[in-house]
Amino acid sequence: MTISKQAAAEKYTKRIFESIKERDPAEVEFHQAVEEFLTTITPALIKDSKFEQNAILERLTEPERLVSFRIPWVDDHGKVQVNRGFRVQFNSAIGPYKGGLRFHPTVNSSIVKFLGFEQIFKNALTGLPIGGGKGGSNFDPKGKSDEEVMRFAQSFMTELAKHIGPNTDIPAGDVGVGPREIGFLFGQYKRMTGAFHAGSLTGKGLGYGGSLARTEATGYGVVYFTTEMLKDYDMKIKDQKVVVSGSGNVAIYAMEKAIHLGATVIGCSDSSGYIYDPDGIDVDTVKQIKEVERKRISEYPKHHKNATFTANKSVFELKCDIALPCATQNEIDEKIAKLLIKNGVKAVAEGANMPSTLEAIKTFQDNHIPFAPSKAANAGGVAVSALEMAQNSARLSWHFEEVDHELQKIMRNIHTRTSVIAKEYGEEGNLIVGANIAGFLKVADAMIAQGVI
Ligand code: NDP
Repeated sequence: MTISKQAAAEKYTKRIFESIKERDPAEVEFHQAVEEFLTTITPALIKDSKFEQNAILERLTEPERLVSFRIPWVDDHGKVQVNRGFRVQFNSAIGPYKGGLRFHPTVNSSIVKFLGFEQIFKNALTGLPIGGGKGGSNFDPKGKSDEEVMRFAQSFMTELAKHIGPNTDIPAGDVGVGPREIGFLFGQYKRMTGAFHAGSLTGKGLGYGGSLARTEATGYGVVYFTTEMLKDYDMKIKDQKVVVSGSGNVAIYAMEKAIHLGATVIGCSDSSGYIYDPDGIDVDTVKQIKEVERKRISEYPKHHKNATFTANKSVFELKCDIALPCATQNEIDEKIAKLLIKNGVKAVAEGANMPSTLEAIKTFQDNHIPFAPSKAANAGGVAVSALEMAQNSARLSWHFEEVDHELQKIMRNIHTRTSVIAKEYGEEGNLIVGANIAGFLKVADAMIAQGVI
């Protein structure tokens, strides 16, 4: 008896997913990222049997390399502390591994694998020659002195340096890793290698090889992507009420660009709660509190009399037209998704990685809410990181406007490509399908061309 191509493709993805769960049963975030991916790429598997013949899914879901290491360091009281470090080098089919480092107490192998897996396809979508990687540590920079962060970063890099390089693997920032941490990491790498490898890390300071507009790139890119998506529904971001979660790098610059384009941002958050400002959030105040003073977002109402702070609640309980989750994974579950819809949300775009659970995504889709998945919407950061590498290689520094212009072009292209592919594969408007299949095809074809490695 012959089985249909559809059934064969589903059998293949099911087999892969079951084997992943069996091998690493505790890696729930990784399972979630893989499940979202596998359930959307069936149309590509149906169209061509070469992917199964070449065991592409088996190879794609197994990192090329995962290193884990000890990071001993001495705190300000002279006490020895030990953290755990990771680097996952997931896939190098289209270029050297590229992806950020996250310093947060929740970091473990599941988190770095989910982030590294997503990074493969995100990087492919940018159209630039970069493979997928990610890393980090369960170190918590919050409440640490600059000296402690430096000693930790130096110890972390002492191990990481064995695995990275400008043509091998180029880390960058992520949660908990900003310009301060990148500076310490870069300094240690330079010291260890005895050479100024500008292209060894991205997100560097402007005085030593960083790119203008890299700080802004992820947040601005999310808003550029959102405006493209809204056009398909005859909507504009101008005059819309926007709510953003988080108040870190991605959130701040998403707010800034949304405001530039005429939206009113009424709320943002951090892990302690959210602020609501009916007059519109003042981004300069948020920058001062979060970037300069490194304090809690609850400080904001001290500077703006009509603003309020609500502890330990989701910012998405605020009524808004556009929701931009820019904080962390799984911050929007089914319940919050339903609340957003009840409150009239018109579009959702993911600035954070995997901020919506699978149930939340289904809820948005069932209610026909335009939805921009993180792989596509937040690719602006890594895209400008690749432009930073290009500037480093050419020993040039481009103007802000030049980089921003390239970023806009890249985000437009990602939107076009994901929309076209979604339509081609019979799922018009489903940008999750579009992003996953577009990224998959590029990487899978490169893997097949390079043989069984
Ligand atoms: P930051 O560390 O700069 O900021 C993270 C923000 O999210 C902080 O305001 C933090 O609050 C907040 N946050 C963390 N957990 C929660 C929570 N449970 N509830 C509410 N707020 C929370 O990180 P980034 O802005 O760089 O990264 C944010 C997201 O974007 C991550 O998913 C990251 O992987 C993704 N991303 C980042 C890119 C980049 O270029 N930076 C590129 C692509 C994706 P607190 O200060 O209290 O910890």
